[in-house]
Amino acid sequence: MKILLVDDSRSSRCVTSAYLLEMGYPLTEAVDGIEALEIYRRDRPDLVITDVEMPGMDGYTLAREIRRNDSIDDWVPIIFLSGCVGDEDIAKGLEAGGDGYILKPVSPIVLGAKLKAMKRITDMRRRLLELSTELQAANRALIKVSQIDALTNVANRRSFDGGLEREWYRAQRSGRPLGMILCDVDYFKRYNDRYGHAQGDACLCAVAEAIAKLTRRSTDVLARYGGEEFVMLLTDADEAVTMAVARAMREAVAALALVHADSDVASHVTISLGVTVCIPDRSLNSADLFKFADAALYDAKGQGRNRVCLRPFERPAAATAGPTAAIA
Ligand code: GH3
Ligand code: MG
Ligand code: MG
Ligand code: MG
Repeated sequence: MKILLVDDSRSSRCVTSAYLLEMGYPLTEAVDGIEALEIYRRDRPDLVITDVEMPGMDGYTLAREIRRNDSIDDWVPIIFLSGCVGDEDIAKGLEAGGDGYILKPVSPIVLGAKLKAMKRITDMRRRLLELSTELQAANRALIKVSQIDALTNVANRRSFDGGLEREWYRAQRSGRPLGMILCDVDYFKRYNDRYGHAQGDACLCAVAEAIAKLTRRSTDVLARYGGEEFVMLLTDADEAVTMAVARAMREAVAALALVHADSDVASHVTISLGVTVCIPDRSLNSADLFKFADAALYDAKGQGRNRVCLRPFERPAAATAGPTAAIA
């Protein structure tokens, strides 16, 4: 414990410093508050022992100055030394940010005991800070884990839903289009049946890795949405851009050339993709994007798989033109 000892009286300083050195504490000395503050800021001692009455800056002001810039991370105990310690002095010292008083002339027994008590507090505080740092790191890791699909390492559905919500409102404000691509591995049940579940898992990882490379912006999100289904959200992407990315995804999976002897469409693993694009506004919600992307994927499956289909986004009919109005 590195100590800063502040006292304008040379003799009293010598006596206290002799005790401290004898107890094995490394220390720095200052003759008044101003010098002490300088040393404090430069050396960051672990404890300050300061005389109360000093010319220039007294001990209370010094304590207030130290506390003024204190953050939770660098609190140090401050002990006052004074010839007379009345109730008022104690109150004033504690208010200034001090933690204890020692009566002058200093008794080495009281000084030693006080230092031990303060050390207990600083040790505990240090441990608490360490624990809180560890806790923060663990929390960050936990948040990350809770957002990532354990098998493929891409975002999971929960994280995707959060990203979609965020980008949906952002696009509403900016008036820029959002593209969505749903993709599904073709004849994957047969793949599992033929090559086993473990190889099925490896196939999903390879597919995820290949298509994840095709996100263009940090705001784009690729997620595993279900068993062998992935979804990609493209921010600020019109129909042409989204279709181009979808085609590139299909080609990237084909290029993996993962043998799939039981597929009806190719000799390797393929995917089908459904695309839709919309410019969000207040009359729409993000589930509408899914509806059209899902319909497009259904088209791709129906038309023979291993292809990209587009469903142009259609706004729900305005209330006056809706079926209710027609019946009325
Ligand atoms: P389609 O071309 O119409 O999409 O046919 P499919 O066989 O791919 O579709 P289906 O939905 O019938 O089968 C999906 C299969 O995906 C069934 C399931 O066992 C498998 N599956 C889902 N999740 C996982 C996973 O995490 N690992 C593995 N290995 N297989 C999975
Ligand atoms: Mg003095
Ligand atoms: Mg499926
Ligand atoms: Mg499938």
